[in-house]
Amino acid sequence: MTKIDWSKLTFSYTKTNTILSTSYRDGAWSPVESLTDDTLRLTSFAGALHYAIECFEGLKAFRGKDGKVRLFRPEENARRLQRSAKYLGIEAPSTEMFVEMCKQAVRENLDFLPPYEATGASLYLRPTLIGSNPQLGVQSSKESTFLMLCSPVGAYTGGALEAIDCVIARNYDRAAPNGSGAFKVGGNYACSLCSLNIAHELGYKAVLYLDPATKTTIDEFNSSNFFAIRGNSYITPKSDSILPSITNMSLETVAAHLGMEVERRPVPVEELATFDEVGECGTAVVITPVHKLVDKPFLESEEETVYTYGDGMCGPKSLRLYNYITQLQRGEIEDIFGWNVEVEI
Ligand SMILES: *Cc1c(COP(=O)(O)O)cnc(C)c1O
Repeated sequence: MTKIDWSKLTFSYTKTNTILSTSYRDGAWSPVESLTDDTLRLTSFAGALHYAIECFEGLKAFRGKDGKVRLFRPEENARRLQRSAKYLGIEAPSTEMFVEMCKQAVRENLDFLPPYEATGASLYLRPTLIGSNPQLGVQSSKESTFLMLCSPVGAYTGGALEAIDCVIARNYDRAAPNGSGAFKVGGNYACSLCSLNIAHELGYKAVLYLDPATKTTIDEFNSSNFFAIRGNSYITPKSDSILPSITNMSLETVAAHLGMEVERRPVPVEELATFDEVGECGTAVVITPVHKLVDKPFLESEEETVYTYGDGMCGPKSLRLYNYITQLQRGEIEDIFGWNVEVEI
């Protein structure tokens, strides 16, 4: 295989040895196929292509200090995929089948699992579930295809822990009230692209959305949850329209373990002026600190309120949480919560 420069990896696709595929048809999943070609054969009338009948997951495999290979909380991803699939009305793999396919994908693609020394790099798994039978009518797909895809990745942006600038776009939402915001469906991402593109043009790395019903409290970023630190408190929004992040859930547990207060509640926009540290959290980088958060009522307008946190580096409390999670994932500290699942290689 071609040699990979692990230090140059970003969050982009590198083809690996195999992808795994299985389809649910007439009440059963077909035997898992391991394919070296990453181009699918799919009916052009698949529900995924016309009605966005698609949901996905994202999780990582790490090479530990002890040489062992570990997945971080894969059962949580399996359960979340099952919830997303139920929302779409399609069949999802069982938790056991999901975790087994994660392990198989890692084993078949060990060449692409970054070594322990490559800090910040990992093998990213992208479980993907699509409605795959030919259909014209609008209805949930009878057949679904489950793919276990992977790619080696480095830090999401330039470097992890480099603080970014974000914008609140009040005239855009990623999900509707009582809509699909709490499910990891591809359609939510399609709906975030217009505002994300404008934000990128204006020089912002991410968009922070408010709760779509009242526009008075904070929801989340386009692809990650919001958290803030004030004093000794870890504060994160409670809302029906945000995706329940496994990273955020883990950070809450670690924060409490480290003696912090944990508050999960509606977070009014005005509170942005009172926080010591603000960050994004998600599987891709665990934590990305936010330096400037700009409230721009209309993305195109001149009017804006700017909130600034820290000096462009990661704040001390966020850094402590980040270190704990990443050390646990890399087998450097004891996994007292039982979050890691070892892949026998
Ligand atoms: C996947 C995702 C997250 C992060 O979830 P993790 O389980 O922590 O990776 C946050 N917000 C949205 C919208 C997402 O799709």
